Amino acid sequence: QVPPGAPSLPQSGQNGGVPVSAHKLIDGKAAAARVLLQVREDVARLHGQAIQPALAVILVGSDPASQVYVRNKILRAEEVGIRSVEHRLPSDTSTEQLLILIGQLNADPAIHGILLQLPLPAQMDELRALEAIAPDKDVDGFHSQNVGGLSQGRAVLTPCTPSGCLYLLEQTCGDLRGKHAVVIGRSNIVGKPMAALLLKADCSVTVLHSRSHDAQALCRQADIVIAAVGRARLIDASWLKPGAVVIDVGINRIDDDGRSRLVGDVDFDSALPHVAAITPVPGGVGPMTIAFLMKNTVAAALAQHHALRSQSEAVCHSIY
Ligand code: NAP
Repeated sequence: QVPPGAPSLPQSGQNGGVPVSAHKLIDGKAAAARVLLQVREDVARLHGQAIQPALAVILVGSDPASQVYVRNKILRAEEVGIRSVEHRLPSDTSTEQLLILIGQLNADPAIHGILLQLPLPAQMDELRALEAIAPDKDVDGFHSQNVGGLSQGRAVLTPCTPSGCLYLLEQTCGDLRGKHAVVIGRSNIVGKPMAALLLKADCSVTVLHSRSHDAQALCRQADIVIAAVGRARLIDASWLKPGAVVIDVGINRIDDDGRSRLVGDVDFDSALPHVAAITPVPGGVGPMTIAFLMKNTVAAALAQHHALRSQSEAVCHSIY
């Protein structure tokens, strides 16, 4: 099935080769714009109820890629009417100092979402920091309470990248029930939550990793392939069943004849003739991640507002 709001991306092959047939491209930029439009409308409704959704972004150290990611998140928040507050900490910050800041943000009713930009500097305890974020403000969905809730199939704040991938798949394939999905990669950020979301969507799910035997043959059985490996162009046509739908999460910087550029985990030019649809890199999954961060922030603001209202109603009941 061709994605609705069909990608209007007649462009050259990712390696500058033959022109790409536009209907096979899953256009993450256009999909993210649709999600953000909905978020903007939701934010406007919240403004109407005197609620200002707010996202706190914590950046420790000066990793150049992290600085770019944080800047983009803040820009996108402003565009949709979400207030953002940036906290920059020096790279020699201790875990305890970071926990103090997280505690203050947890206690601040004007902050609805807390995003801790990863990776943290080596001396810091990442897991402890993520666990310190209040689960209802955990817009990245990395707190164990949200991870557990997702694996139980409950409605919780869910990691942004896999949520964005699921949205693209639903738009592309329609009904996902019964489809065989192969997730390549088992990280806590992408692979595992992706598998949980696909299972929740009634797919049959296989997860492959660096120790999998015969990964290529297993992958060739998939109706849907999600590549989240971090190895440039690892997956070529020989990994793919004809007519598979491919979501390429990978972002890998390569040197191409002295020119630095980004490629995915999938060898795009090799895969394209075999697939029903595929996300390009860049312009596929990347924009969806930020869009779902905004969506999670609004969901968190709404849930916290409801919780506050129920609390005050309970107090009124106990008084009168
Ligand atoms: P990660 O933590 O390094 O995990 C990579 C996974 O791939 C691991 O589970 C590893 O297996 C598996 N793997 C490695 N080599 C393999 C092989 N030859 N065959 C099968 N599996 C193999 O990476 P990540 O954080 O999940 O990120 C994956 C990619 O997605 C990266 O390129 C990253 O930059 C990108 N990414 C993109 C976005 C976005 O917004 N577009 C967001 C997040 C990540 P083991 O567990 O056995 O080591």
